Amino acid sequence: MKKKILAIDVGGINIKAGIATEQGKVDEFVEIQTPKSDGPQGVFASILTILRIFNISSNQLNAISIGLPGPVGKDGIIYNPPNLQSWGVVDIPSDLARFLNYPRENIYAANDASLAALAEYKFGNGRGANPMIMLTLGTGIGGGIIIDGKPFTGKNGFAPELGHIVLDPNGPRCGCGRLGCAEAFVSHKGIVRTAWELLKRDKGSIMWSLMKESSNRIIPEVVKDAALLGDPAANRVIELTAQKLGLLLTDLINIFNPERIVIGGGITMLGKLLIEPARKYAIKKSLKRLSRDVTIVKAKFSQKAGVLGAAAMALEKIHNRL
Ligand SMILES: [Zn+2]
Repeated sequence: MKKKILAIDVGGINIKAGIATEQGKVDEFVEIQTPKSDGPQGVFASILTILRIFNISSNQLNAISIGLPGPVGKDGIIYNPPNLQSWGVVDIPSDLARFLNYPRENIYAANDASLAALAEYKFGNGRGANPMIMLTLGTGIGGGIIIDGKPFTGKNGFAPELGHIVLDPNGPRCGCGRLGCAEAFVSHKGIVRTAWELLKRDKGSIMWSLMKESSNRIIPEVVKDAALLGDPAANRVIELTAQKLGLLLTDLINIFNPERIVIGGGITMLGKLLIEPARKYAIKKSLKRLSRDVTIVKAKFSQKAGVLGAAAMALEKIHNRL
């Protein structure tokens, strides 16, 4: 019987998983809640549950490949993931191997944003582009850079941290401690902060009434709906965010001379309103010889990006085993 790959994407809220064939086809897919307690052991137990749902045992698997929301070194060790409470430092391959009684060398772990980039490169809108850069704009900014078909992850596996490129040294404080990182502007939190700053001075904005439907919270959807209704404050929020995204794209173009930049993540629900002005800004501001051939596109995958990327990583590693 042909062996399969268990591809898993662990998020702060949900764990998604799929069974991939060695041809890279993911034909089964499940999603369960991330356990709130028990730390890594809770997630390992969830992986057992997933195997049961798929009705497959670990000895039928050629590899277990996991994407995680935090810094993961080349050795598969994750360091203090911000969205997985009380995890600390966890050696995923060793600990999961022990838990499942499964060979450690067939377990792979990587950062979820790097895997999303790999998914777009192998199966999505970045297919074959060299270099290809992916930005995942969500709670924060995740990044992935694929050079010559391989994720570039630096000496120890933690690169690239594209969200921590400083765009304004006098800007708002970022989660990393510095001021004005890209992530402090072009993320869920960044958009909400910019919106509040403008709302404080604009009592007539439609956003005030639209946010009643979201428990009086500003969410990017409120900004989008108000912008489409012609609300000046909402349009200004998007304009300011697009400008910062444009700055980030300009830097990336000037450093990497990429063939394609793929933009994904929850914030892309703002769609063309955000991406189009950012793209125009970047093409105009970056050095001509570097931006001449770059295309900037939306990602193909949203929900399945992590699982597909985990499958792609495993396929690559299995190929290298032979
Ligand atoms: Zn930062």
